[in-house]
Amino acid sequence: MRILVLSDVHANLVALEAVLADAGRVDDVWSIGDVVGYGPRPRECVEMVRILTPNVSVIGNHDWACIGRLSLEDFNPVARFASYWTTTQLAAEHLQYLESLPNRVMDREWTVVHGSPRHPIWEYIYNARVAALNFPAFDTRLCLVGHTHVPLFIREDEALANASPHHPGDDTVVDLSSGRFIINPGSVGQPRDGDPRAAYAIFEPDDARLTFRRVTYDVAHTQSQMRDEGLPESLVSRIAVGV
Ligand code: ZN
Repeated sequence: MRILVLSDVHANLVALEAVLADAGRVDDVWSIGDVVGYGPRPRECVEMVRILTPNVSVIGNHDWACIGRLSLEDFNPVARFASYWTTTQLAAEHLQYLESLPNRVMDREWTVVHGSPRHPIWEYIYNARVAALNFPAFDTRLCLVGHTHVPLFIREDEALANASPHHPGDDTVVDLSSGRFIINPGSVGQPRDGDPRAAYAIFEPDDARLTFRRVTYDVAHTQSQMRDEGLPESLVSRIAVGV
């Protein structure tokens, strides 16, 4: 079983297509939320994710904003503008799909949430202290999160010892056979770890293994789509440097 794990696509269709091509044959695709927001192709990304992720797909804060579940006042002005623009691009069927997404999906072995198991929509897990506070908030061996746009993994004993989380590079393989883990695959559409390449993960539960992946995509193509749609220049420029 080979599962493609996507997070924070953020309406970047060019990056999503590059990830799908790079991942090769997979048995399932999971989405950790924020399919829309910031990027220029929300309709297409919602339609693709809806088809690709029939089993595991959770909602993120930007998806929430588009269906009116949170006030746009909670966003900075640039994110607010992009969120408002996104809402104008989505048809009723897209909004209904986002409405239908749960904020948590779990199985016997794993939990999937956008932010954190304590606060699925809003909390960022970016250090050992926050991770340690979150391990008691889920019962499974693995919790997959997104939201920070920074690839990360940390084992429970490391979090409790206040060790730094691991920030994996391309092709880093995590052995999940012992211990409990919180893992963030990074962002497909708007990486923020200084590496502009699209980030994703391949989860192989039968082998207790997860592989972090990066893939180059045509950033300039997405940027020209963003400019054509009148999206803020600060959002256009940041994807070229991955911040
Ligand atoms: Zn996001």
